[in-house]
Amino acid sequence: MSIHISVDMSTKKKLIWCISILSVFLLWYAVFGGKSDTEQYAAMKQSMVEYESLLRETREQILDRLKMCQRECQRWDPDLPVIYTITPTYARPVQKAELTRLSQTLMHISNLHWIVIEDSPKPTPLVENLLARTNLNYTHLIAQTPSNYRRKGSPRGVEQRNAALRWLRKNKTMNDKGVVYFADDDNSYSVQVFDEMRFTKEVSVWPVGLVGGLMVEKPILDPITGKVAGWNAAWRPDRPFPIDMAGFAISLSQILKKSTAYFSYTCYGGWQESHILQQLTTKDHLEPKADNCTQILVWHTRTEAPKLSEENKLAARGIHSNVGVEV
Ligand code: UDP
Ligand code: MN
Repeated sequence: MSIHISVDMSTKKKLIWCISILSVFLLWYAVFGGKSDTEQYAAMKQSMVEYESLLRETREQILDRLKMCQRECQRWDPDLPVIYTITPTYARPVQKAELTRLSQTLMHISNLHWIVIEDSPKPTPLVENLLARTNLNYTHLIAQTPSNYRRKGSPRGVEQRNAALRWLRKNKTMNDKGVVYFADDDNSYSVQVFDEMRFTKEVSVWPVGLVGGLMVEKPILDPITGKVAGWNAAWRPDRPFPIDMAGFAISLSQILKKSTAYFSYTCYGGWQESHILQQLTTKDHLEPKADNCTQILVWHTRTEAPKLSEENKLAARGIHSNVGVEV
């Protein structure tokens, strides 16, 4: 019985040895097999050059990021209120261009916290990577517009802005000093508009260019009191607050105090501003900014959808100009 076992074990051991030697040989052959010494050295040299360049590139990238972090940290002033900039965004051909433009404007602003909410079931790599590369102080959220509100004519950005309001109410307290601004991804912003809104007590307002069918929609001030007396809007001037989303900012404390104020699908595009502002303030409390509402520091620009007829022709043949490239 014992002899039988020992014979069995030694056969097994031999077999394992044979397999090991064969594997080592196969591995050696796969790496160096068939190559002459000259070729081997050439291949090694090539690897060396590649490793060196990888090392250099990584060092440069790390230095770049370090510099960006240093710049960002220098812009942090613990005594300044934080500007919580809320940006809904959705996937379309111009998305990266819009977010690049906006992020590079925001890079100039001190004490800024960018809350980006994707209209998507999950975070996309495009937005994730863009945010990670900006070195801005940001929060990345997702909130998908329900399918029954994705029709033409439905108000846009409702779900996303509400998600940001919920986030603020969950994560900030009355000890946090700040101001909340709804900055759509396609508008054009002067860096100055951020300085104007920073010390908002309740709700501040200023003119917005290129909106409501006019060159400018703006609050009209009482020359004596300097308070908002009316509006120069042409489109539905009967709105309680005939002003664009880009034309006001709300203090964080007011957002926290009026904790039930949200955007709604019950009112249509153009009425969202009035809907939220009615829950937060009254006309006589508004704080006019931008040199008594005489300066235009933000424009309601809209980006034309690019013509992709050639791309579509290619796509019909299963070809794409952007394979492996993020545009
Ligand atoms: N938006 C969105 N999902 C959509 C359409 C728009 O999240 O299906 C976002 C968009 O990226 C922008 C905001 O909502 O930040 C307002 O949309 P848009 O600029 O198209 O509206 P506008 O006021 O210009 O008509
Ligand atoms: Mn827009």
